[in-house]
Amino acid sequence: MSVASKTAPTQLPDAAGHFGPYGGVYVPETLMTALSDLTAAYTAASKDPAFISELRHHLKEFAGRPTELYFAGRLTEHCGGAKIYFKREDLLHTGAHKINNALGQAILAQRMGKKRIIAETGAGQHGVATAAVCAKFGLDCTVYMGAVDMERQALNVFRMRLMGAKVVPVEAGQKTLKDAVNEAMRDWVTNVRSTHYILGSALGAHPYPMMVRDFHRVIGQELKEQILAREKRLPDEIIACVGGGSNAIGVFFDFLNDPAVKLIGVEAGGHGIKRGEHAARFEGGKLGVLQGSKTYILQNPDGQIELTHSVSAGLDYAAIGPEHAYYRDQGRIDYAYATDDEVMDAFQLCSRMEGIIPALESTHALVHGLKRAKALGKDKMIVVNLSGRGDKDVNQVAKILGVKL
Ligand SMILES: *Cc1c(COP(=O)(O)O)cnc(C)c1O
Repeated sequence: MSVASKTAPTQLPDAAGHFGPYGGVYVPETLMTALSDLTAAYTAASKDPAFISELRHHLKEFAGRPTELYFAGRLTEHCGGAKIYFKREDLLHTGAHKINNALGQAILAQRMGKKRIIAETGAGQHGVATAAVCAKFGLDCTVYMGAVDMERQALNVFRMRLMGAKVVPVEAGQKTLKDAVNEAMRDWVTNVRSTHYILGSALGAHPYPMMVRDFHRVIGQELKEQILAREKRLPDEIIACVGGGSNAIGVFFDFLNDPAVKLIGVEAGGHGIKRGEHAARFEGGKLGVLQGSKTYILQNPDGQIELTHSVSAGLDYAAIGPEHAYYRDQGRIDYAYATDDEVMDAFQLCSRMEGIIPALESTHALVHGLKRAKALGKDKMIVVNLSGRGDKDVNQVAKILGVKL
């Protein structure tokens, strides 16, 4: 049995990290050994019962798994169609699904004898999850964060520092997530013997998209058991937001071989699909290579990365995980987008009607879920993956609504 146990819906990626034409390893030569060592260590760990049981233990005791499957009764009634369920990743420690992956990689790093951890963060959620696991295991932690993001997310910077992490401002480029990833990769090249890089989404060079996916598969595995116990059948549709794509591929993966279950990823439509105003890579993105991987990227005709925008920092990135590009080509996963305005409405609706304040990222999935629930009959049921909680977003929402705190 392995981390990716139970069913094996796909053999992908291949040994070189390809999902069809996507994925791969596009990095400087100096990182090739580190990545192949990591692939070997992860492959061995994922089959080792000691690793699996250690990870399970910490997922339960530290992160709070399993997360609940919740029936959103009032939103269901409000929409008047399909039953709406939430998979409650928002209940996890540090507030989002990201802890699943941070725990997995931190345990792996210790197996590899690496006591120094680096990570990138945009909004700070992955940085907070990484800082938490490093504090727990006594690992040295450095988080790279764009200077602009540090200002916008000052509270998360303080959280990371409280937990003992060093947060390094990145002044290059747009001073946001993409630039933080570049700095983290630069650090890794220099300190590769002592250091493991905990990448935060199903992105980057092989083995990251595969490994990060596997650490999040627990979401879909739990969901399958929970919905079968509750409804005696599989859901008609599962809907998740897609930044890099880790919560989405995690919840979808164990349903890929269930063709009756429709899978829908929701990207950030920002101010609408105009250049520089959104982060919907499948709407206007093109094939390219960014930060280690071949995938759909928002770029100009010269291949320069476009500016992106979303109300939710966690979805505001120019590239999408390569496995998503593959399943889109196969027609197995559909993609939609939600705009900032739709997200603001659904954020307030969900808070008011369910007593659950969702993360702005997760609210993208909810926007589409509400549309689907209205379109489907009462005999249908859908699951929205609530990837995180909205506590981190309330300041920003207040500002947008013109409320002085
Ligand atoms: C980071 C984040 C996301 C986006 O990342 P994925 O890798 O696409 O899952 C989504 N939701 C929340 C709450 C996040 O913090």
